[in-house]
Amino acid sequence: GPGRTATTLRAGEVAVDAPAATDATLYFIGRIHTPWSRPEQCPRQGRDDGPVCRIEVFEPWVAALDGLERYGEIEVLYWLDRSARTLVRQSPRDDGQTRGTFALRSPLRPNPIGTQIVTLLRIEGPVLHVRGLDCVDGTPLLDLKPDRRIFTPLAPPTPGDAPGGGVPP
Ligand code: SAM
Repeated sequence: GPGRTATTLRAGEVAVDAPAATDATLYFIGRIHTPWSRPEQCPRQGRDDGPVCRIEVFEPWVAALDGLERYGEIEVLYWLDRSARTLVRQSPRDDGQTRGTFALRSPLRPNPIGTQIVTLLRIEGPVLHVRGLDCVDGTPLLDLKPDRRIFTPLAPPTPGDAPGGGVPP
Protein backbone atom coordinates (compact mmCIF):
# COMPACT_ATOMS: atom_id res chain seq x y z
CA GLY A 1 0.00 0.00 0.00
CA PRO A 2 1.01 3.66 0.06
CA GLY A 3 4.03 4.53 2.11
CA ARG A 4 5.42 1.03 1.87
CA THR A 5 8.74 0.86 3.63
CA ALA A 6 9.60 -2.82 4.10
CA THR A 7 10.79 -5.22 1.43
CA THR A 8 7.55 -7.16 1.26
CA LEU A 9 7.51 -8.02 -2.41
CA ARG A 10 4.46 -7.50 -4.58
CA ALA A 11 3.73 -9.61 -7.66
CA GLY A 12 6.55 -9.20 -10.18
CA GLU A 13 8.80 -7.16 -7.93
CA VAL A 14 12.50 -7.91 -7.58
CA ALA A 15 14.82 -7.19 -4.65
CA VAL A 16 18.57 -7.77 -4.55
CA ASP A 17 21.16 -8.42 -1.87
CA ALA A 18 22.71 -5.02 -1.36
CA PRO A 19 26.50 -4.83 -1.36
CA ALA A 20 28.26 -3.99 1.88
CA ALA A 21 28.27 -0.30 2.72
CA THR A 22 29.58 2.17 1.53
CA ASP A 23 31.41 5.26 0.37
CA ALA A 24 29.81 8.68 0.78
CA THR A 25 29.50 9.95 4.30
CA LEU A 26 26.54 12.29 4.52
CA TYR A 27 25.87 14.85 7.21
CA PHE A 28 22.30 15.19 8.34
CA ILE A 29 22.32 19.01 8.37
CA GLY A 30 18.83 19.45 9.77
CA ARG A 31 15.37 18.05 10.15
CA ILE A 32 12.11 18.66 8.29
CA HIS A 33 8.87 19.31 10.18
CA THR A 34 5.64 18.47 8.38
CA PRO A 35 2.04 17.67 9.37
CA TRP A 36 2.43 14.01 8.30
CA SER A 37 3.62 11.39 10.78
CA ARG A 38 3.37 8.38 8.45
CA PRO A 39 4.45 7.94 4.80
CA GLU A 40 0.95 6.91 3.70
CA GLN A 41 -0.37 10.32 4.82
CA CYS A 42 2.09 12.28 2.66
CA PRO A 43 1.30 13.52 -0.85
CA ARG A 44 2.98 11.44 -3.56
CA GLN A 45 4.74 14.63 -4.66
CA GLY A 46 4.79 17.99 -2.93
CA ARG A 47 2.19 20.46 -4.16
CA ASP A 48 2.39 24.22 -4.61
CA ASP A 49 -0.79 24.51 -2.53
CA GLY A 50 0.49 22.15 0.16
CA PRO A 51 0.79 23.12 3.84
CA VAL A 52 3.55 25.35 5.18
CA CYS A 53 6.33 23.14 6.54
CA ARG A 54 9.44 24.04 8.52
CA ILE A 55 12.98 23.06 7.71
CA GLU A 56 15.22 23.28 10.78
CA VAL A 57 18.95 23.62 10.06
CA PHE A 58 21.37 22.41 12.73
CA GLU A 59 24.56 24.07 13.88
CA PRO A 60 27.28 24.45 12.67
CA TRP A 61 25.51 24.87 9.31
CA VAL A 62 23.21 27.83 10.04
CA ALA A 63 25.77 30.34 8.70
CA ALA A 64 25.51 28.57 5.36
CA LEU A 65 21.97 29.95 4.90
CA ASP A 66 23.18 33.51 4.23
CA GLY A 67 21.87 34.71 0.85
CA LEU A 68 19.38 31.90 0.35
CA GLU A 69 16.56 34.30 1.33
CA ARG A 70 16.84 36.04 -2.05
CA TYR A 71 15.40 32.99 -3.83
CA GLY A 72 11.67 32.36 -3.93
CA GLU A 73 12.15 28.76 -4.98
CA ILE A 74 14.74 26.41 -3.59
CA GLU A 75 15.67 22.80 -4.03
CA VAL A 76 15.57 20.57 -0.96
CA LEU A 77 17.33 17.21 -0.73
CA TYR A 78 16.34 14.87 2.05
CA TRP A 79 16.92 11.32 3.22
CA LEU A 80 13.86 9.11 3.01
CA ASP A 81 14.98 7.25 6.09
CA ARG A 82 12.12 4.77 6.34
CA SER A 83 12.69 3.26 2.90
CA ALA A 84 13.69 -0.26 2.06
CA ARG A 85 16.69 0.01 -0.28
CA THR A 86 16.95 -3.25 -2.21
CA LEU A 87 14.12 -3.12 -4.76
CA VAL A 88 15.22 -2.99 -8.40
CA ARG A 89 11.79 -3.60 -9.94
CA GLN A 90 8.67 -2.15 -8.37
CA SER A 91 4.93 -2.33 -8.88
CA PRO A 92 3.57 1.05 -7.73
CA ARG A 93 -0.02 0.01 -8.40
CA ASP A 94 0.45 -3.52 -6.99
CA ASP A 95 -1.04 -4.93 -10.19
CA GLY A 96 1.79 -7.18 -11.38
CA GLN A 97 3.10 -4.47 -13.75
CA THR A 98 6.63 -3.44 -12.78
CA ARG A 99 9.23 -0.85 -13.70
CA GLY A 100 12.86 -0.43 -12.79
CA THR A 101 13.48 1.66 -9.69
CA PHE A 102 15.42 4.31 -11.64
CA ALA A 103 12.40 4.85 -13.89
CA LEU A 104 10.34 5.81 -10.84
CA ARG A 105 10.38 8.51 -8.15
CA SER A 106 9.45 5.94 -5.49
CA PRO A 107 11.08 6.49 -2.08
CA LEU A 108 12.27 2.87 -2.20
CA ARG A 109 15.70 3.11 -3.87
CA PRO A 110 19.30 2.17 -3.09
CA ASN A 111 20.10 5.71 -1.96
CA PRO A 112 16.76 7.05 -0.75
CA ILE A 113 17.35 10.70 -1.58
CA GLY A 114 14.23 12.79 -2.07
CA THR A 115 14.38 16.04 -4.01
CA GLN A 116 11.75 18.71 -4.23
CA ILE A 117 11.59 22.29 -5.45
CA VAL A 118 9.66 24.26 -2.85
CA THR A 119 8.43 27.81 -2.39
CA LEU A 120 10.52 29.64 0.21
CA LEU A 121 8.25 31.90 2.27
CA ARG A 122 10.76 33.17 4.83
CA ILE A 123 13.81 32.31 6.89
CA GLU A 124 13.85 32.96 10.66
CA GLY A 125 17.29 32.18 12.07
CA PRO A 126 17.82 28.45 11.58
CA VAL A 127 14.27 27.78 10.36
CA LEU A 128 12.95 27.98 6.80
CA HIS A 129 9.22 28.18 6.13
CA VAL A 130 8.38 26.48 2.85
CA ARG A 131 5.48 25.09 0.88
CA GLY A 132 5.57 22.02 -1.36
CA LEU A 133 7.10 19.17 0.64
CA ASP A 134 6.00 15.53 0.69
CA CYS A 135 7.95 13.87 3.53
CA VAL A 136 7.09 12.73 7.04
CA ASP A 137 7.76 14.77 10.14
CA GLY A 138 11.37 14.34 11.27
CA THR A 139 12.84 13.48 7.86
CA PRO A 140 16.60 14.21 7.83
CA LEU A 141 17.78 17.14 5.68
CA LEU A 142 20.72 16.62 3.30
CA ASP A 143 21.07 19.86 1.35
CA LEU A 144 19.50 23.15 0.29
CA LYS A 145 20.27 25.13 -2.87
CA PRO A 146 18.65 27.76 -5.04
CA ASP A 147 16.43 26.41 -7.82
CA ARG A 148 18.81 25.96 -10.78
CA ARG A 149 16.26 27.53 -13.13
CA ILE A 150 16.55 30.90 -11.39
CA PHE A 151 20.14 30.71 -10.12
CA THR A 152 22.87 32.49 -12.12
CA PRO A 153 26.34 31.13 -11.30
CA LEU A 154 28.55 33.65 -9.46
CA ALA A 155 31.77 31.86 -10.43
CA PRO A 156 33.27 32.98 -13.77
CA PRO A 157 32.28 31.01 -16.87
CA THR A 158 34.40 28.08 -18.00
CA PRO A 159 35.13 27.00 -21.60
CA GLY A 160 32.37 24.47 -21.11
CA ASP A 161 29.89 27.32 -20.72
CA ALA A 162 30.40 28.30 -24.39
CA PRO A 163 27.63 27.49 -26.87
CA GLY A 164 27.81 23.78 -27.64
CA GLY A 165 29.62 23.08 -24.40
CA GLY A 166 33.11 24.16 -25.48
CA VAL A 167 34.30 20.61 -26.11
CA PRO A 168 38.11 20.60 -26.71
CA PRO A 169 39.26 19.42 -30.17
N1 SAM B 1 9.65 14.53 -3.98
C1 SAM B 1 10.63 13.49 -3.72
C2 SAM B 1 11.27 13.04 -5.01
O1 SAM B 1 10.60 13.01 -6.05
O2 SAM B 1 12.47 12.74 -5.01
C3 SAM B 1 10.05 12.32 -2.95
C4 SAM B 1 8.94 11.59 -3.68
S1 SAM B 1 8.42 10.12 -2.80
C5 SAM B 1 7.31 9.40 -4.01
C6 SAM B 1 7.32 10.78 -1.59
C7 SAM B 1 6.72 9.67 -0.76
O3 SAM B 1 7.74 9.13 0.08
C8 SAM B 1 5.64 10.09 0.18
O4 SAM B 1 4.39 10.09 -0.44
C9 SAM B 1 5.72 9.03 1.28
O5 SAM B 1 4.97 7.89 0.91
C10 SAM B 1 7.18 8.62 1.26
N2 SAM B 1 7.96 9.20 2.37
C11 SAM B 1 7.87 10.43 2.90
N3 SAM B 1 8.77 10.61 3.88
C12 SAM B 1 9.47 9.45 3.97
C13 SAM B 1 10.55 9.01 4.79
N4 SAM B 1 11.12 9.79 5.71
N5 SAM B 1 11.02 7.75 4.59
C14 SAM B 1 10.46 6.94 3.66
N6 SAM B 1 9.44 7.30 2.86
C15 SAM B 1 8.95 8.54 3.01
